[in-house]
Amino acid sequence: MKKLALHWQIVIGMVLGIVFGVLMTKLNGGAQFVKDWIQPLGTIFIHLLKLIAVPLILASLIKGISDLKDISKFKRIGGRTILIYIGTTVVAIVIGLVLVNVLKPGNGITQQTITKLTETYASDAKIAERITEASNQKKAGPLQFVVDMVPQNALAAMSNNKMMLQVIFFSIFIGICMLLIPEKESEPLKKFFDSLNSVILKMVDVIMLSAPFAVFALLAKVVVTADDPDILLALLRYAGVVALGLFLMIGVYMLLVTVIAKKSPLWFLKQISPAQLLAFSTSSSAATLPVTMERVEEHVGVDQEVSSFVLPVGATINMDGTSLYQAVASVFIMQVLWPEGLTFSNQISIVLAALLASIGSAAVPGAGMVMLVIVLETVGFPADRLPVGLALIFAVDRPLDMLRTTVNVTGDATVATIVAKSVGKLGKPKVKNWDDQL
Ligand code: ASP
Repeated sequence: MKKLALHWQIVIGMVLGIVFGVLMTKLNGGAQFVKDWIQPLGTIFIHLLKLIAVPLILASLIKGISDLKDISKFKRIGGRTILIYIGTTVVAIVIGLVLVNVLKPGNGITQQTITKLTETYASDAKIAERITEASNQKKAGPLQFVVDMVPQNALAAMSNNKMMLQVIFFSIFIGICMLLIPEKESEPLKKFFDSLNSVILKMVDVIMLSAPFAVFALLAKVVVTADDPDILLALLRYAGVVALGLFLMIGVYMLLVTVIAKKSPLWFLKQISPAQLLAFSTSSSAATLPVTMERVEEHVGVDQEVSSFVLPVGATINMDGTSLYQAVASVFIMQVLWPEGLTFSNQISIVLAALLASIGSAAVPGAGMVMLVIVLETVGFPADRLPVGLALIFAVDRPLDMLRTTVNVTGDATVATIVAKSVGKLGKPKVKNWDDQL
């Protein structure tokens, strides 16, 4: 019998995880059971993916660059990637702003809901934590992010998953210098990284064998820790606007894939679906990165010279879903708590602020909300109302995080594909044997 495709196995794991989670919330002590005995499975899976992220970036970027015959090609790929990343992010923000201004989800919120949400969440430690994190990020000077990209210690950079850009910088530097020395001298190093790269891509396959079970655990945990359904319902209109925007953004990507890459959008979605499903289940583009790379290279056919640069950079700086969410959430909060601040010039500031904020957001769960604080502060949102503002959207943040992370990952995969096409590096998929199943 033919085995079920990996993405279907994952979907089944997700559905069963949700059903199991719902059943457990009904049982006395069920939620605790999930936290104690089921959740660790999901956590181990995320650890495994993060474990291979740094070696994968190092090996694949160094291999990718040293495979290029000259540096000018790298400049072309780099320049295009950054421009398209900025372009798609601006499109996402504009979609978000148009929807939130037309559909006005803030109008549906009653004073009673505000009071209830404020009482439940405004003093929540997690909200205070996000505001403090945001102020730490803001204290840095304007060029600090460039300074932060350059590591002072390569090993220290590689030992911290938050330093992904530093690892990227270091790998590009090594790769370029390998091109600058005679081939004979760079050969042993190149062979070493080629081999490391193959081993790590195989590790992705092995880890993915457990994906259906891991997503079961991850979603069961999300369900048992979800908020009171009444509160979720009150925020349905706001959540609906974000979800609609994210859906439209997927439409934009499909258009790009059809027009520029000349590929069928359904085929494309099928190839990258395991990465999307994992993004949804983990809410982390960084944790999903190894799978995104494997799918885009082996299943879509993007050459590693392109994907090894475009995808890790994208995971850290290209977050279209996050920027769209930040645009909708900030205007929604203003509609409810500070309507007088909703001027045209403030909305233009939101475009810029959300663009920078999504670049600065870490690729981990909940990061988009930290940078949302900065977006609100940029337009002069009253500081004393900030905790109330965040309390308004907190209850639905996790489900929206799952959706926006899916869009973030789809955006990276799309840009990798169209950049590859534009430099003649989109070839045939090269699926290895026993790739999805043993
Ligand atoms: N969780 C998102 C990601 O990893 C970031 C965010 O919007 O919170 O892409």
